[in-house]
Amino acid sequence: MDAWRIAAEPYYAPSGDECAAFEAAYAERLPMLLKGPTGCGKTRFVEHMAWRLGKPLVTVACNEDLGAADLVGRWLIDGGGTRWQDGPLTAAARGGAICYLDELIEARPDTTVVIHPLTDTRRVLPIAPLNELLRAHPDFALVVSYNPDLHAQGLKPATLQRFCALRFDHPPTETEVAVVAHESGASPELASSLVALGVRTRRLRQHGLEEGASTRMLVRAASLIRRGIAPRAACRMALVTPLTDDPELQQALSAAVDATF
Ligand code: ADP
Repeated sequence: MDAWRIAAEPYYAPSGDECAAFEAAYAERLPMLLKGPTGCGKTRFVEHMAWRLGKPLVTVACNEDLGAADLVGRWLIDGGGTRWQDGPLTAAARGGAICYLDELIEARPDTTVVIHPLTDTRRVLPIAPLNELLRAHPDFALVVSYNPDLHAQGLKPATLQRFCALRFDHPPTETEVAVVAHESGASPELASSLVALGVRTRRLRQHGLEEGASTRMLVRAASLIRRGIAPRAACRMALVTPLTDDPELQQALSAAVDATF
């Protein structure tokens, strides 16, 4: 588990009282759901909280191929025969880590079968291949996230019922400027311009853009500019081209860039 411990404080700029809320939920070992757009700081928040609470953190980025066996573990065949290898969820439940399932909604439906018994008072993990019912370590906690903007139908109500939830959004302007400046080393002036651009791109959601520029994208644009790339080119690389293939939306995004720099 020591490999999963976070040595230095991960920088996190809070938007409200989410740190105290998370601490209270952890004290009760309540499963937590973080809802919010991509790149708005959910993962960084969990890293920060794991560090604050002094707990190891096991993070799993979920995708559509990820199933229950990927979380729980599997038998491996090697030179010495067969041996069992715990998956990340089992390792966290055994070792007393916080397990963060990022974008759980992407994972295959069979993952809910293993998650549900961990989220009620039983706090157990069924490990079918070992015929074992693992009782979670007292320090274990489960945190999941998803982006409701991209998944309108959301997680199933039976799953949602089991979680306390915190809503994340793009940070308030001043906070976002501080984040962009801190993460990239950019000047406050450059960070402010990039955040203003971010806000403009987010308005394009009303015009069909799936997602506006995330804080992560703004940090990347700032880093490219610090590396000597001209601001307009940096913004095209960091956010215009990645965000859409639609020519009209590309044009609208480029216009927002040109209006900023
Ligand atoms: P998410 O998990 O919501 O997709 P991340 O936590 O990975 O997003 O955030 C992406 C990047 O944006 C981080 O690596 C960090 O540089 C920056 N970031 C966003 N919000 C914050 C914040 N509130 N405090 C510190 N960094 C942040």
